[in-house]
Amino acid sequence: MFLAGDAAHVHLPLGGQGMNVGIQDAFNLGWKLAAAVLGRVPDGLLDTYSSERHPVAARVIRNTRAQSVLTDWAGTGNPDLPELRSFVADLFALPDATHFIGGMISGLDVHYDMPDQPEHPLLGYRLPNPDLKTADGTVRPYELLRSGGGLLIDFSGDSVHPERAEVPYVRAYGDLGADVLLVRPDGHVCATTTDGLPAGLSRWFGTATGADWRISAT
Ligand SMILES: Cc1cc2nc3c(=O)[nH]c(=O)nc-3n(C[C@H](O)[C@H](O)[C@H](O)COP(=O)(O)OP(=O)(O)OC[C@H]3O[C@@H](n4cnc5c(N)ncnc54)[C@H](O)[C@@H]3O)c2cc1C
Repeated sequence: MFLAGDAAHVHLPLGGQGMNVGIQDAFNLGWKLAAAVLGRVPDGLLDTYSSERHPVAARVIRNTRAQSVLTDWAGTGNPDLPELRSFVADLFALPDATHFIGGMISGLDVHYDMPDQPEHPLLGYRLPNPDLKTADGTVRPYELLRSGGGLLIDFSGDSVHPERAEVPYVRAYGDLGADVLLVRPDGHVCATTTDGLPAGLSRWFGTATGADWRISAT
């Protein structure tokens, strides 16, 4: 059984986070269930729903509990609360703190573990939506992700051809500091190098349905 949204995590509405977190749950789970229905589910893929989303929900519950103390939701009347609020407000004036809190409350800083991949600042995070320059004009990653099949963006100039038609492919020009970006259907980056592609493809997209695929330079 899979639970998503408020059925999986209930908390005070402080910070307006519940709907966002629930939608992210559904996004995380939907493409994994689709892979299972299509019979292409890689080992352990469905288990990653819980391992990826549980910590996110737990963090929301923690921060709403902290906010309930700050707002005195329980009506304790603690006389030290003004000092606590003033102390926290001072912290929130720091740019790093604002950045941290903004990422957490919006859910845009969510990071998932991507094993067997070299470190990269985008790895595991939701891909932003930059303009991608292609031979046919400018396109945005999330327009291409609408097909639901993920996305392989090739910046390498080596004409990387994954012989896996089920993973949409775009050759792009520019510099996001990566040779390639393999993006899961939920927008999270799961490989950033040509060397990391085979592991990223097999872990998140499963075995190719047609002939064996390989990455080749032409
Ligand atoms: C006052 C308040 C303000 C909020 N503000 C924000 C905000 O600004 N931003 C934000 O992101 N979140 C906000 N939230 C949280 C957000 O509303 C919830 O997290 C979100 O609606 C949860 O969506 P859900 O689909 O998981 O559950 P629900 O919206 O509860 O949907 C579950 C549905 O299932 C139906 N159902 C239940 N049992 C059955 C059954 N047996 N058979 C068939 N149907 C059934 C219910 O009728 C309901 O329609 C707020 C919540 C509150 C209370």
